[in-house]
Amino acid sequence: MTHPLVAAAKDLAPAFASRAAHWDRSRSYCWSNVQDLADAGIMGMSIPTELGGRGANFLDVVMVVEEIAKACTLTARVVVEANMGGISAVMAYGTDEQKAFCAPHVLAGDKPAICITEPDAGSAATEMRTTARKRGNTYVLNGCKHWITGGGVSKLHLIFARVLDETGHEQGIGGFIVFADPMNGNLPDGFEVVGREHTLGLCGMPEAELRFNDLVVDEKWLLTPPSGLKRGFADLMNAYNSQRVGAGTIALGVAAGAHERATSYLLERQQFGRPLAEFQGLQWMLADMDTQIHAARLLLHEAARSRGPNGSRFPDMTMAARAKLFASEMGIKVVNDALQMFGARGYSDREPLERMYRDVRMFTIGGGTAQILRTQIAGSVLGIKTPQTRDAYAWPISDEQQIAAE
Ligand SMILES: Cc1cc2nc3c(=O)[nH]c(=O)nc-3n(C[C@H](O)[C@H](O)[C@H](O)COP(=O)(O)OP(=O)(O)OC[C@H]3O[C@@H](n4cnc5c(N)ncnc54)[C@H](O)[C@@H]3O)c2cc1C
Repeated sequence: MTHPLVAAAKDLAPAFASRAAHWDRSRSYCWSNVQDLADAGIMGMSIPTELGGRGANFLDVVMVVEEIAKACTLTARVVVEANMGGISAVMAYGTDEQKAFCAPHVLAGDKPAICITEPDAGSAATEMRTTARKRGNTYVLNGCKHWITGGGVSKLHLIFARVLDETGHEQGIGGFIVFADPMNGNLPDGFEVVGREHTLGLCGMPEAELRFNDLVVDEKWLLTPPSGLKRGFADLMNAYNSQRVGAGTIALGVAAGAHERATSYLLERQQFGRPLAEFQGLQWMLADMDTQIHAARLLLHEAARSRGPNGSRFPDMTMAARAKLFASEMGIKVVNDALQMFGARGYSDREPLERMYRDVRMFTIGGGTAQILRTQIAGSVLGIKTPQTRDAYAWPISDEQQIAAE
């Protein structure tokens, strides 16, 4: 049965569509949409009912996300991050206190920020340098994160860092829940929002750099998966598989929205004394778009329903990678084709397609690039872990290099 919040999303979509150009042109965050989402119960819909959420599963969430992404890509990103990724990691692995603290913020409209990427650690996320060193019953964080979605507007932050004991010995990579309220100038000492990227698309969403300089965090905010700190990063990244499915679904929704617009336009616009819809060259483009959208939806729904190994509540890694890869590349192609069907009109801001085209370009990059996803899928197909670091390969090396290495 379709979740009632899918109907609520359909009701909200026309208002979101009418405001989408405003957020894009003014590069401003969609606060009024967030309020609408919170009022409708969509913010934090995946949070369990005992904590005030709707207890929705990931399939319910992706169906809501698709409807909203047809109208406004920016708002769909808020929905993904308010239900998947960071908040889902807290709901899966958090202590009662952590869950009880985070849930009300998200339900009231906060989109948590997940802070992994660093200037020198992008695809190679485990090369992160941010550290969290134990001091008494606190951790002291030092380092820098960039391309943090919502940096400067989000209150909850899940910051990934190398966890060191008091002597500086590394324990593994952990996630720290840090509350900061930059919109109200309420930042903990040592937490700085430094800059904002000027992006091609999704212009209303701040992508910011965050710096931590002796940021003191109570040890109770360390999010530790059941596998402990040593293997905990893998579990925390499993939670990220849900966000990947969400990101792929945004690309799907944008593509589906573009396809709907193109279909109407082909029926309406006349050239050579006939509706464009009568030209077979365009019919075949439309058919390919339709087929690819359906294929992406099936992959995403399969991934949203799946569960990773060992009783994980998160989507299977390979299914999530496959679905995001296909949907993100499909989204770029379909929106591009839809824009083509509109001719010059599609190239102008009289149509939302130029914005959708810029927005959808992001999804083969953020949250695991198309190349990294292909590497993951290939590893799963081949049944091998494909090393990416040079020293993991047994290259024949020269005597000089051998001596240098020793
Ligand atoms: C809009 C946006 C929002 C984002 N939001 C967040 C966020 O909220 N939190 C967060 O932590 N991060 C976020 N990111 C960062 C994102 O996760 C990284 O951009 C991504 O992981 C890639 O890292 P990079 O940009 O440093 O590229 P690099 O890792 O430097 O890669 C550059 C190119 O090389 C390719 N490449 C790298 N390694 C390999 C390999 N082994 N094999 C083949 N090709 C390879 C990549 O695919 C890419 O094409 C966001 C990024 C964007 C664009």
